[in-house]
Formats: sequence, C-alpha cells, structure tokens
Amino acid sequence: SPTIAVLALQGAFIEHEQRLQSLGCTTIELRQAADLARPFDGLVLPGGESTVQAKLLHDLGMFEPLRQRIAEGLPTLGTCAGLILLADHFRTLPVTVRRNAYGRQLGSFHAEGRWEEGAKGTEEAAGATCVADAKDYSSNSATLASEPVPLTFIRAPRIEATGPGVEPLVTLNDAPVAVRHRNQIAAAFHPELDDDNRLYEALLAPLKRAY
Ligand code: GLN
Repeated sequence: SPTIAVLALQGAFIEHEQRLQSLGCTTIELRQAADLARPFDGLVLPGGESTVQAKLLHDLGMFEPLRQRIAEGLPTLGTCAGLILLADHFRTLPVTVRRNAYGRQLGSFHAEGRWEEGAKGTEEAAGATCVADAKDYSSNSATLASEPVPLTFIRAPRIEATGPGVEPLVTLNDAPVAVRHRNQIAAAFHPELDDDNRLYEALLAPLKRAY
C-alpha cells in the first residue's frame, strides 16, 4: 500500500493519519529533517497555524527539501493551514488566499459544498482506494460524487483568486473551497473531521497504478 507522510510539527495531523490508515495506507510522521529520508509516496500538510508551521519548517531545515519534492510532483494534500503553506510559503500553488477570512463570528462553522469533479474524475477517484476490495468502494464512491460535501471550517482561509491550471474540486456558493493544481490538492476546510473520503481518494488516485 502507499506510504503517506504527514507533516507532524503542529496542528491537526493525527486525524489525517487515522483517516489514511482507515483507507489502507501506511503513514509516517515528518517531525525532523531526517524523516525526509524515509520513503513515501504522498504528503499531507495538516491544519494548524501556518506561520508556526512555516517557522518550524525553516528552523528544522525541512522547508526547502519539502518544497522541492512538492514542486517535482509529489502527490500532496494541504488542508487549511496546509493550503496557506502551499500558496504563500512554498508558493507551489498559484492561488491567492486570505487568512482568517471569515471573521470572528464565523470563526468556525459547518456548511455543505458541491463536488465539482466530472464523471471521468469520479471514475478515477473511485479506483483510488488502497483497500483490497475496490469494487465495493467504487460503487460507494460513485454514489457519493453527486452528494453534498460536508465542510468544517476553523478560522479558515478564503481562496480569493486562482491562477492558470487550477481547477475547483469543491465549491461553496460557487466559490472554490478545494482546488487541484497538478499534483497538489488544497482545501480551506478540514476533510479529516467529516465522514467523506473524496479528497483523500483524489490524493491517492495517481498512486493507484503503482500498487
Ligand atoms: N488560521 C490558521 C492560519 O492562518 C489556519 C486555521 C486552520 O488550519 N484551521 O494558519
């Protein structure tokens, strides 16, 4: 099964690990530069505080090696602070984000979004699971494609503009709240907190063939 590295310096990384493991993936935690030498096939950048995470990445000598791996095509999922890292710090994702954009009253809230990926993408995503019984999984996933996406926002950034080659994966009131750019998927919300695996499937889809 694929091995997914989860950045574990700060923030909500445990929930991602549990979700990935439930999908049959092996997970490793990235806590120091030496961890980057371990083999892994994909990367998750969790929510938390992007400024703290970026500072730790620099202090620990992990920033440039990780940026390079992402730029070279490592399948990557960034959520919330992870989206900010990709857009503002690594600058590998051509989107403009505004931090804490929903204001004090709407600091944390739940909503339902729309899954935007077309039928072809759905088919691909359906096969993305790491578990052995892909047949069951794909029918489940096909059903899910048209269902609303549960969205939990926690002091979330807003995606204000998207550059070329950025496609919306999930929208809320027609505005993108999750996007894909080449190997990178980024969400303003916290997919690890709701019972919906579609973003994880999208992350794992390119790894399917190798396993
Ligand atoms: N507000 C945080 C930041 O600016 C992100 C919040 C989160 O990841 N839940 O980095």
